[in-house]
Amino acid sequence: MQITITTLPGDGIGPEVTGQAVRVLETCAEIFGRQLKATEKNVGGAALVASNDPLPQDTLDACLASDAVLLGAVGGPAFDKYPAKLRPEAGLLRLRKELGVFANLRPAVCLPGMESLSPLRPEIVRGTDVMIVRELLGGVYFGARSTEGDSGSRRATDSMTYSEPEIERIAHVAFKIAQGRRKQLLSVDKANVLDSSRLWRDVVTRVGASYPDVKLSHAYVDSTAMALVSRPATFDVIVTENMFGDILSDQAGAVVGSLGLLPSASVGGKGGLYEPVHGSAPDIAGQGIANPLGAILSAAMMLRHSFQLEAEAASIENAVKQVLAQGHRTRDLSEQGALSVSTPQMGDLVLKQLRNVAVRK
Ligand code: NAD
Repeated sequence: MQITITTLPGDGIGPEVTGQAVRVLETCAEIFGRQLKATEKNVGGAALVASNDPLPQDTLDACLASDAVLLGAVGGPAFDKYPAKLRPEAGLLRLRKELGVFANLRPAVCLPGMESLSPLRPEIVRGTDVMIVRELLGGVYFGARSTEGDSGSRRATDSMTYSEPEIERIAHVAFKIAQGRRKQLLSVDKANVLDSSRLWRDVVTRVGASYPDVKLSHAYVDSTAMALVSRPATFDVIVTENMFGDILSDQAGAVVGSLGLLPSASVGGKGGLYEPVHGSAPDIAGQGIANPLGAILSAAMMLRHSFQLEAEAASIENAVKQVLAQGHRTRDLSEQGALSVSTPQMGDLVLKQLRNVAVRK
């Protein structure tokens, strides 16, 4: 099997963390006897500097021609002076739209031994392993909007719109993901108030009839927000609309408390887009201290969701767990004053664990 991907390192720490993720992918492909073809392209500020466009045509063409895209991060203070449509972030938004990725997957996992990173008590966060499936191309962020009237009496409107096909397709993604996990799906809405939520609940329930092995339940977004901090370890998969998912996925990330460890995937369109949740971290760029594990775990998600290579994905995730269980930490994860490893050293440690798996195979 050939794994054809485009890598977009981007700006700031993007190239540092993506470099380690690509090394891990190369080693994983070698161990499992897969062919990896990775083509690197410019995006964001790096592309702006090179060609005055944050998403050059040859980058977009390469992304559309490959099975998946692995992105680092875009943006930085040097680009803040550019007009909105030339900003690095505009390139990323365009890329998501061109790829048609409508399902954003944001896992939040409290890995064993990492409980102290959470702002919650260890006994509350321990065992948290939730996957938030957020609808990405509909809802209030894409609905009609307007501002009318004169200063002092202006009125602004944003409309939240969902069609049945839009809800159906995200529901199918969520049910399939739940089938590969603990088979518990919570659909989150505000059906006591919103028509779009009542439609959401109807359609998700109807789609659920095709997945009798998955236990579907429904909850309102406000009570889910409370439950995510009071009993995060009780969730398996959550599916929800765009804005609710935006908020809940950041909340879940904060619950496990380690920005540098969080991966993400955007799927459902032409190929998938995989990126760590963090930004370009200009404050530490170029120092070799960025945590590459969010990017490495994004690469694992890529193998699982774009290539259905479950054993390969799990071997990377297990290698990361092992390295952390052995006590290795990049600076962002280490206690004040404790010794920490550099970005490439963390990459080396994950590679070593992966090779141990190969020896056992
Ligand atoms: P950020 O995520 O870049 O950084 C927030 C804090 O977390 C910083 O102190 C940073 O040093 C730290 N941090 C982040 N990732 C880390 C890692 N892997 N290892 C160790 N520490 C890490 O957020 P920000 O500072 O708000 O944004 C910086 C730039 O990134 C901005 O230009 C913003 O627009 C952009 N951004 C891009 C994306 C993306 O590309 N998807 C996402 C968020 C922000």
